[in-house]
Amino acid sequence: MRAIRLALPLVLFASAACAQAGFQSCLSGLRADAAAKGVSGATFDRAMAGVEPDMKVIEAMNNQPEFKTPIWDYLGTLVDDEKVAEGRNMLRQYASVFAAAEQRFGVDRHTIAAVWGVESDFGKARGKWPLVQSLATGACLAPRRNAFFKGELIATLQIIQRGDVRPDRLFGSWAGAFGHTQFIPSTYLRLAVDGDGDGKRDLVDSIPDALHSTANFMAKAGWVTGASWGYEVRVPDGYSGPSGRNPKHPVSTWAARGIVKFDGSPLNGAGNAGLLMPAGRNGPAFLVFKNYDAAYSYNGADSYALAISLLSDRLRGKPGVQGQWPTDDLPLSREQRRELQRLLISRGYNVGEPDGAVGSLTRTAIKEIEGKLGMPQTGRPGEKVLRALKGGRV
Ligand code: CA
Repeated sequence: MRAIRLALPLVLFASAACAQAGFQSCLSGLRADAAAKGVSGATFDRAMAGVEPDMKVIEAMNNQPEFKTPIWDYLGTLVDDEKVAEGRNMLRQYASVFAAAEQRFGVDRHTIAAVWGVESDFGKARGKWPLVQSLATGACLAPRRNAFFKGELIATLQIIQRGDVRPDRLFGSWAGAFGHTQFIPSTYLRLAVDGDGDGKRDLVDSIPDALHSTANFMAKAGWVTGASWGYEVRVPDGYSGPSGRNPKHPVSTWAARGIVKFDGSPLNGAGNAGLLMPAGRNGPAFLVFKNYDAAYSYNGADSYALAISLLSDRLRGKPGVQGQWPTDDLPLSREQRRELQRLLISRGYNVGEPDGAVGSLTRTAIKEIEGKLGMPQTGRPGEKVLRALKGGRV
């Protein structure tokens, strides 16, 4: 449940004082709206004490990346050897919790673990924005979509009032996704469950609650117990038939179009499937079934659903993508990204900590390197830039 995608114009305020005054009057209105949803004045006042508008939330909303991340980069970061190794550790460490969630909701442990790994890197990347402050800012000052933020703010207050999560532990993305599973508050109210039996639903400090809640989400999204999300296929040269997650067709329809499994064997699987070609007709292709849609519903993007599906396969011991992505500049693993950052630091660039997370500082440095190499300046961390740095060419 990542940040929703918003394309919003910059909002200009006459002055900060004006914004502050508007914010306070907006909060008064929210207090009444929250009361109508059962949030007591005392809960509201305690949660709002000292909350000020955070204009960085509005900036984050407006900050559209200038360069669209290619699918192979996206998957390269989220489904790498490190993530697989850590996922296997987690499956061992929390084996009884995974078994209980699997039993209770019929969703297999590898899929639950994959969601955990992609959403929050197994709890390590849960977001640092104070939830109440970010959502209040969005509810009062976002130029559009205020209703979304207002609804999520009131849902957050309801969570606080129930005593499920400690208010001082409520941090997340600027758009409100929080905890191990990165549910937004309204999703939390609908789908979070108690996994450790203490009567509370705490997706921040209870791993059993988080894993059971993810399983519940997938079950409610139509998960078919025991079925596969899909698998990689080969499409005949010159294929010009339909593709995409939808519309779905019986496997026999795809077989009749000459599509086979990646190893050349005939297609199998029950129910209808879509043919996914996320990098176009010259890249890897996948046949995707109903359980792929369950993963898709977690975040509404094929790149995301594919990351969950492929990571779950790697955790099962299956291979990752076997076809070739249509690029001559392959993505870097996180370890390679750290190496790239260390090399940039050694050249005098400020990229922050070499943590493998490529933010604006690293991108700016990469752009300069790309310029020196005569490459288009995209800021993308790829093999070509890393090779040039390692070879001392820049
Ligand atoms: Ca609990």
